[in-house]
Amino acid sequence: MIGVVVKGFGKYYTVESIDGKKTNCALRGKMRRDPALKRYSDPVAVGDNVNYLINDDEYGIIESVVDRVNIFSRKDRSSVKEDLIAANLDQIVVIQSFVNPKFNPRFVDRLLVRGAKEGIPVILCLNKSDLKNEDDLDYLKKYYAGTDITIVISSVKTGEGMVNLEKIVRGKRSIFAGYSGVGKSSLLNKLFPDLKLRVSDVSELTGKGRHTTTNVELVQLEDGSGIIDTPGVREFGLVDISSVDLSNYFHEFSDNREECRFNQCTHDHEPGCYIKKMVENGEINKDRYTSYLNILYSLKEYEDNRYR
Ligand code: GDP
Ligand code: ZN
Repeated sequence: MIGVVVKGFGKYYTVESIDGKKTNCALRGKMRRDPALKRYSDPVAVGDNVNYLINDDEYGIIESVVDRVNIFSRKDRSSVKEDLIAANLDQIVVIQSFVNPKFNPRFVDRLLVRGAKEGIPVILCLNKSDLKNEDDLDYLKKYYAGTDITIVISSVKTGEGMVNLEKIVRGKRSIFAGYSGVGKSSLLNKLFPDLKLRVSDVSELTGKGRHTTTNVELVQLEDGSGIIDTPGVREFGLVDISSVDLSNYFHEFSDNREECRFNQCTHDHEPGCYIKKMVENGEINKDRYTSYLNILYSLKEYEDNRYR
């Protein structure tokens, strides 16, 4: 049988068949030794299509993973293996809010790089528009002008943008990322009333995040929408990308990098860098460039430590 992994817990996975039947499955032992899957901390991810068998006792065994269209993974400097969060996505939806907490373009930029590397479109939902000020909106529009991100301005309170957002997510498989407090649960509940996620008090949101687990689950609705929430996933480390390649994933840089004097230009200190000229001319947003350098330096630092 073929099914979709909708949840993982320890060494077990819940697999959903085409007609919606869920079975808890273990992995066939050989899968943990499969060289193609060994680089990941977990060989199977939510969203994976798998071949599986159901035993008499209603438990199943996953035999193999069908080739993935894309993966959403992360890696940080402390781990040897790549953390596979989800597979076979149609889009990444990043949710941020204008205030409380204030938006953070650097977090979005890391996800944009992630999306660009895997060919997954990224949607930025700017929530709590009822509390926005026009300067912030203006700033963000300029910041993202040269990127290929889709921006949706929304408010769960006034309903602004909800029709638009619904059109974007309906019938597609989306992973939703965002710091706690931005209104992710509120938005998802509005869009998909069957989900019934818990909405928190703003007062609960101070200090450490209220989520302690990083359990990721795929909820598949009858209309074909697939929702992957990522409670507790706060960091999307990027160390599996080389510093030289980074600018390939900055859309407005990659379009112009041929113009740099050196073809391995990282647009940092190199002479004859066309990207730096574009920043000076105002053709590339200064803060976006700073965000690029920030990621670049963290990748370089990682590379230096690794080869030392
Ligand atoms: P999550 O942590 O991202 O899932 O955020 P929640 O959905 O739990 O919402 C956090 C807080 O923000 C709650 O108090 C919500 O009522 C509030 N909130 C969510 N969306 C909006 C919005 O569009 N405008 C305003 N003013 N508050 C919102
Ligand atoms: Zn350059």
